[in-house]
Amino acid sequence: MLAVDRASVMAALEGLEFGKSDFVLLDEVNIEQFMENLKLRFENAHIYTFIGEGVVSVNPYKQMDIYGKEDINAYRGRELYENPPHLYAVADAAYKAMKRRAKDTCIVVSGESGAGKTEASKYIMQYIAAITNPSQRAEVESVKNVLLKSNCVLEAFGNAKTNRNDNSSRFGKYMDINFNFNGNPTGGHINNYLLEKSRVVQQNGGERNFHSFYQLLRGGSDVMLKSLHLHNDPANYVYTREGATSNNDRSSHNAVLSALNVIGFSEEEIHSIYRILGTVLILGNLQFETDSESVRVVGMGDVSHIAELTSTEPDNVTKSLLYRTVATGDGEVIEKGHSEKEACFGRDAFTKALYERLFGWIVGRINAVIEVKDYNPVLHGKNTVIGVLDIYGFEIFDNNSFEQFCINYCNEKLQQLFIQLILCQEQDEYRREGIKWQHIDYFNNQIIVDLVEQPHKGIISVLDEACLSVGKVTDTVCLESMDAKLGQHPHYTSRKLTPSDKTMEFNRDFRIRHYAGDVTYSIEGFLDKNKDPLYQDFKRLMFNSSNPVMKEMWPDGQLSITEVTKRPLTAATLFKNSIVALVEKLGCKEPYYVRCIKPNDMKSPLLFDDARCQHQVAYLGLLENVRVRRAGFAYRQAYTRFLQRYKMTCVYTWPNHLMETDREAVEAIVTQHGFQDDVAYGHTKLFVRTPKSLFTLEQERAVL
Ligand code: ATP
Ligand code: MG
Repeated sequence: MLAVDRASVMAALEGLEFGKSDFVLLDEVNIEQFMENLKLRFENAHIYTFIGEGVVSVNPYKQMDIYGKEDINAYRGRELYENPPHLYAVADAAYKAMKRRAKDTCIVVSGESGAGKTEASKYIMQYIAAITNPSQRAEVESVKNVLLKSNCVLEAFGNAKTNRNDNSSRFGKYMDINFNFNGNPTGGHINNYLLEKSRVVQQNGGERNFHSFYQLLRGGSDVMLKSLHLHNDPANYVYTREGATSNNDRSSHNAVLSALNVIGFSEEEIHSIYRILGTVLILGNLQFETDSESVRVVGMGDVSHIAELTSTEPDNVTKSLLYRTVATGDGEVIEKGHSEKEACFGRDAFTKALYERLFGWIVGRINAVIEVKDYNPVLHGKNTVIGVLDIYGFEIFDNNSFEQFCINYCNEKLQQLFIQLILCQEQDEYRREGIKWQHIDYFNNQIIVDLVEQPHKGIISVLDEACLSVGKVTDTVCLESMDAKLGQHPHYTSRKLTPSDKTMEFNRDFRIRHYAGDVTYSIEGFLDKNKDPLYQDFKRLMFNSSNPVMKEMWPDGQLSITEVTKRPLTAATLFKNSIVALVEKLGCKEPYYVRCIKPNDMKSPLLFDDARCQHQVAYLGLLENVRVRRAGFAYRQAYTRFLQRYKMTCVYTWPNHLMETDREAVEAIVTQHGFQDDVAYGHTKLFVRTPKSLFTLEQERAVL
């Protein structure tokens, strides 16, 4: 036999790749080796690397020629280790598990802003669309088409340019794709999470409002803009004047219009969508002034345009902008005039709500189209699901507010799920296959989840209490009660309790030691954002719209002020409930992970910023992930597949299979090569502890 060095074995194993195609193949699991491998691969245009059945992806910031038809064909129906790492390999693994074992699966895509989550999710969906429905049945094609087109619409209304990403998703998205017994998509469902609606009224320097506004202004026809009473320059509008338009706003507008049509939005619905966008822009330009005691709207002409666009009465528009109806203690209903400040606050709350409800309505409308209809499990077999989660990653900004608090809590929950699922999944597999499992220890973040969500004690509960208490509770008072309740918690720090910490402000900040690092939050605005108040008068105005589409978005407008609940659920609690439901949904599925890494903050295809990448590797828990995979068995293969691949290396299996069962044949191969101490035999699979044994086999295969 020829002597083959390890590098060439690796090359053979990995199809002439650079570095190790799976992090479990590292000689030693430590951060240095991990980073070296990640960097080597990135610098040689290998943006994907496996960790077992999951993949780590580094954003290439350039078009890669790896998503074509041939690439899709190369991965279709193949085993993970047969091809270089790719999103397609993970998508195929999730699809195969779903199809072969009738398992519901999910693909969790995570990473920070700009790391490539949305692009990855789209490639995954395109892959699934490409490998299904070979017989081109029309109804399946139409479901696939709507699923793919929905991305374009949701990106227009839910994405914006931020300083971190030109196309940043400002909402979380979870999409279920349903399949029938022969593995073809029959429908789907989208859940959206916490749209960053504050962006409608204000953006940080250098950032933009949601794409939809610029697309309409730059791409809408003259006739359309005229009918909406809009000018085509975003600089004319307070809400859009900060963000420059981009080159593709115009073409994107046409793409969105065509996607809306394909999905099945009616002409009336499409008009209503654009009327709402127009209303938001015009409302944003309204000013108020105080004129001998009373407040009035400046620019009454605009009010009539708003009334026209929302199909409401101009007088009612003015009234809801200037007055609120309140119920007094003895049940009397009175009208109370706003101060100028209250009127501005009300206007902004109204535009944010208009946009948020529009977004929610669009998602609901897409869901109505893709919802699985007339599915009879008796006739059609079990309906299985693949879920794809593309949700905001951990955020640490210079100034962290309520939104970051919610987003980071969501990441704690997902990390908790990851810990449970990855451990459980391994444990389950070993149990199923009758193999002994060795426990591995790592940081369990449940303590941080509790700090945020525990009833009566957690941060959300303290916030809610402050929001619901009568009398004026300020952000600072709320911070004080948080300090009092949580000051002793090992993951909570208050400047008041540790006055030596000069990085925090005495009256303003609190810090959470998240699993991904310390984040200091400014309490300013927490209460308002959590209460998220909107005067009932606006809701009533919209409920009374004669436009049925708009009316449908405001069902709560039919309540009179005395019927309105005094203790509505707060924003944090609503978000918590939606994330708890999401985690439950994911928890009963077999998970596959795509971990996205952003190589640098310059959007450069060339730069691998070591410190930035290492931080992401740390908080994504990737080393732990590799350790878990290796603590048990790095590789597992069904006996038949193993035999197929290595039968030529053993006299008992080649040229003829001389053993009674596949398992015996595999035992013969293992024994002949002398690595019987490195394996365990499960009921249906061979488990291999270290990569070394596979190298030996691959080495033999390569020279035969
Ligand atoms: P956010 O959390 O802000 O939504 P994200 O993780 O979804 O961020 P993406 O929008 O997917 O990030 O990616 C940001 C940009 O990086 C893309 O617009 C694209 O320019 C580039 N990019 C990401 N993935 C790829 C890829 N596989 N190939 C080429 N370019 C990519
Ligand atoms: Mg995104």
